[in-house]
This record gives sequence, structure tokens and C-alpha cells, in this order.
Amino acid sequence: MAWKIFSNLETEKVDKTEKKLEIKNIKEKVANPKKNINKQETAIKKKTSNNKEDKLYVIPLGGLEEIGKNMTVLQYKDEIMVIDVGLAFPDDELLGIDLVIPDFTYLEKNKDKIKGIALTHGHEDHIGALPYLYNKINRDTPLYGAKLTLALAEAKFERISSSEDVPKREVKARETISIGKYFKVEFIRVTHSIADSFAFAITTPVGIILHTGDFKIDLTPVDGEGVDFHRLSQYGEKGVLLMLSDSTNAEVEGFTKSESKVGESLKQEFEKADGRIIVAAFTSHVHRLQQIVEVARELKRKIAIDGRSMIKVFDIASRLGYLNYAEEILIPMKNVENYNDDEIVILCTGTQGEPLAALSRIAKGMHKHIKVKEKDTVIISATPIPGNEKAVYNNISKLLKYDAEVIYEKVAGIHVSGHGSQEELRLMLNLIRPKYFMPVHGEFKHLKKHRDLAISYGVPKENIIMADNGSKIEVSRQNVKLMGRVPAGETLVDGLGVGDVGNIVLRDRQNLAQDGIVIVVLTIAKSGELMAGPDIITRGFVYARESEAMIKETTEIVKQELKRCESEGIKEWAALKSSVKEVAGNYFYEKTNRKPVILPIIMEVQNNNRKEL
Ligand SMILES: [Zn+2]
Ligand SMILES: [Zn+2]
Repeated sequence: MAWKIFSNLETEKVDKTEKKLEIKNIKEKVANPKKNINKQETAIKKKTSNNKEDKLYVIPLGGLEEIGKNMTVLQYKDEIMVIDVGLAFPDDELLGIDLVIPDFTYLEKNKDKIKGIALTHGHEDHIGALPYLYNKINRDTPLYGAKLTLALAEAKFERISSSEDVPKREVKARETISIGKYFKVEFIRVTHSIADSFAFAITTPVGIILHTGDFKIDLTPVDGEGVDFHRLSQYGEKGVLLMLSDSTNAEVEGFTKSESKVGESLKQEFEKADGRIIVAAFTSHVHRLQQIVEVARELKRKIAIDGRSMIKVFDIASRLGYLNYAEEILIPMKNVENYNDDEIVILCTGTQGEPLAALSRIAKGMHKHIKVKEKDTVIISATPIPGNEKAVYNNISKLLKYDAEVIYEKVAGIHVSGHGSQEELRLMLNLIRPKYFMPVHGEFKHLKKHRDLAISYGVPKENIIMADNGSKIEVSRQNVKLMGRVPAGETLVDGLGVGDVGNIVLRDRQNLAQDGIVIVVLTIAKSGELMAGPDIITRGFVYARESEAMIKETTEIVKQELKRCESEGIKEWAALKSSVKEVAGNYFYEKTNRKPVILPIIMEVQNNNRKEL
């Protein structure tokens, strides 16, 4: 099936003006031929230069070929607007890393051009890296978003700084804001797993760019705020030059179920439980939290919340009116024992098996207040994000060992996705009918599937842009093409350090984790003579007490090597260290097939200190 792509109104307008100009020129030419040739030339020159400059650049800095850290830059002439500034969580290979944020080099270099940042919604993968970005750009860059989104963003800043000096502007549905001279952004309501989720229709000098944000098409949304089909189709009718659309569920057939269905399943599970109910959910999934509160209220259970982040979201969302409940339904965790088991719901974090989250601590029996009992029902109201499956199933197995009832997505409808499946993606394509299309928000397989959907639905293959992070995409009225790259990738955050853990540090961490470390301490006199040692200390390599012989032999090998160095006149510490590393490394590998990190430490002493050693 193919559709007519509506012509872009902006283009039509320009065409008409050009025609008028031509007619005017012809008329004037007849009246005064010489003068008007010049005029015509100027007009043509003007037209060409306009065309040349009429290019918009779309630069994704995150969210492509990955899940997380969504971020898109739009640039026209010397002005930039940014859509979302998200973070990602590290996978197993990034040892010790807390967060992953986009590479901001391009924005740092062009910080004076940034006219504003607009947020589609309040999920971590869209707002989580904001405080890190604001540390690199002008702090008076305005931040636009809906009420809940801005409140959650503000809370993110508290992680490392404050957002007091950042100008924030709250935007409502159907409101249009101007970012710089060239971008007019209308916020169009969509449905997702958090309230205040928006698509952006961005009117630019080259045409309309529509960014769907994260969306599903939920016809029975929990908060009654549905997708603004009218506005979306109005833009479709007007003519959208380029659409960027959420690809997360492009592989899933059919429609994603409505969030309100989860409420029904939760109620069924709650009714079956005779003991305590422990529910793990995403803190940012405000609609889900509302449903849990609702069911608890109906079944006359009190809720005890575990985890600071969960308490914070309850505070923000209820203060702003996005979460509604009577204050007395919440009880402090320490008061749980004062109630019967069937009067309690414990709400906690840890749906992804995060080692420090409440559910993992509960599963390991290491939680301060909660010990799992036989009649407890544990509900994990989320699916594992790809990569987290092992950790999640580990928790489930541990919980099952306590003989608790464990309910997770595979066994019941206690979770639905916040992202649209194939039919919803088709519907969006059909409403908007963009001239050009760019799948975003997903791994490569998702983007590719979304591209195929668009092709099967009438967008010509050559009008689809398959970009990756850092691609610089040039968009004009007539053409879209990849035009080089800007720096993009991952910046790793570990504790207070941002970007200071690079490949070398990571490789060390991986080596240390795999085979441990051996420290060889050498005390050497100024003359180069070995005065004491080598002392060998190992951690995570072999159990020293059981490997005394090997350690002793290592000492001998190192001594011999130092003698060899001395006889050959090698005195530089760097050379000595690398020789020690090599001989010890070879020996360990031969004996154990392991490659520990070897760290020679040389201490220099004056010759006359010998006796004291
Ligand atoms: Zn989202
Ligand atoms: Zn997202």
C-alpha cells in the first residue's frame, strides 16, 4: 500500500512567492529592460543563496542502536535546539560504572548556539543526563517541559548540583514555544507509561519535523489523557517533512495492551494473596504506581514504601497531582509489623535485579526490615530490560526458595509495555505520512524492523534515514542525506568522576576482576643492588597460603632477573619494572594459565640504610 505524501506547505508558499517574483520581473523587464536584468540577477542570487542555507541538521547524540540515553540535536544556521538528554545504565562489562551519558563534545563546542532544551517526558533515558550537560554548557540555557517532567528533571539535578540557576519553562499540551529564531515547538499529547508524555511538532525554516517521543496508543489511559489524534493528523495534513519515531517495540506484532488492563490483573493477584504482598515496580512508572495504590485501597491494604527514589517520586507526583491517594494509606516501613500480613503491601524498587535495590536485598535475605515469609506474594511488575534477564531470574529463584508466591510477567499480565507495537507504529505513520522518516529509540534490529514497516506502508526506501549516534543528517525541502559525523559515544560516570574512566581503566578493572593482582615490592639501593625483597602480595589471584611454593619460586625468578639486569647495566626503573612483569607474568601463566595484573613497586634506599632494613 502506498499513500500520497502531502506536499509541504512551506514549499508551496516559497514556490508561489518565486512565481510572483518571476511575473513581476517579466512585467518590469518590459518596462525597463536594462535596469531589470540586474534586478532579476539579484533575485536569482538571493534565491540560490537561500536554498543553499536552507538546510537543517538533525544530529542524534544517543538512543540509536542502543536502549537508553536518548538525545537529538537540531541545528539551523547558528542556532541549536536539543530534544531530551537521557542516560543509560551500564551493562556487566562496564565494571563499577554507575551511569552512561552521551558524549557532549559537540554541544560543548557549540554551547553559545544552544537556544533551548525541550523534554518529551520524564523518564531517566530522556532526562537523566541533564545535570551533566548543564555542567558543560551555559547554565542559562532554557529548559522546556511539562510540569511533571520538569519536577522529575529538577530532582535529577540534585544528584550532583542544583537546577536553581537553570531557567525552566512549563509547557502545556497544544502550547507552542519558540526556541531561538527558527524553531517553533508544539507539545502534542501522546500516551506512554508516565503522565505528561509529548510528541513534538517542530516548525523549522525547511519544514515540519515531527518527533513522536516515546509513545503507545492507549485508548483507555489511566489518567484519561489520550493521544491527541486531531493535532497529529492536522500536522499530517499540513505536511510533515521528517518524522522521528519510537522503535522500541517494532518487532512486536499487534497492539500493546492498555495500561488499565494491568490494574485488572493486579487486582486478581492481590485478591488471591492471603499474606503480605511485595510489589516491585519502576519508580518512574507513575501510572503503574497509581494502579497499585488503587488496588491496595480497594482491598484495604496499607502501603509501605521502600527506597529513597520511590519515596521521592511519590512525593513529587502526588504534590503535583499526578498520583492520587489518601495520606493514611501510606505507613512507615518500621510499622509493618503492627499490621496483619493480609493488610500490607510493600512497594519497592528492583524490577531489573539491580544488586543494591530493595528487591534484590529482600531476595538475598539482607533487607533490614523485610524477611520473606512462606505466605508472601511477590509481584514483579515489569519485564527485564535486555541484558538484565539473568539478574532478574536469579532474584526470582531466590524468592521461590523461601516458598513465596512469585508472580512475574511470564506468568501473568501484570505488566504491559509503554511503547507501541507494530499496529500503533503503522497508525502513527498513517496519521503523519511524513515525506522522510527516521526510526529512533531502539537497537539496530528495532530500527531496521521499523524501517521495513514504513516501507511496507508507503514511505519510499530512499526517504528513510538509518542513522547512528553522531550522524549529521542534512535535511532540506527536497533532500535528506548523511553529511559526516560529530563526536558521539559513551561517557562513563563513576561516583563523582565524569568521563575519567576510559578504556584503559576499564580494561584494568576487567583484568583485575578476571585474574586478580600480584604486587611485587622491591627495595633497591641507589647503586641498583637489591637490598630487600622481592615481597610478593597477591589479591584475587591465588590463595597465598596454599601457594607458598609458587610464591617462593616467583621470588627466586625475580631475583635472578634483577641480577641479569644488574649485570647488563639496566638501571632505569621503567625497564626493571617491565622485566619483572614479564618474567613473573610468564611464570604465572605457565603455572596457572592465568594472567593477573602485575604491579612492581620499587623503593629506593640509600646504601647506608641497609642495616635498618
Ligand atoms: Zn519513556
Ligand atoms: Zn525512552
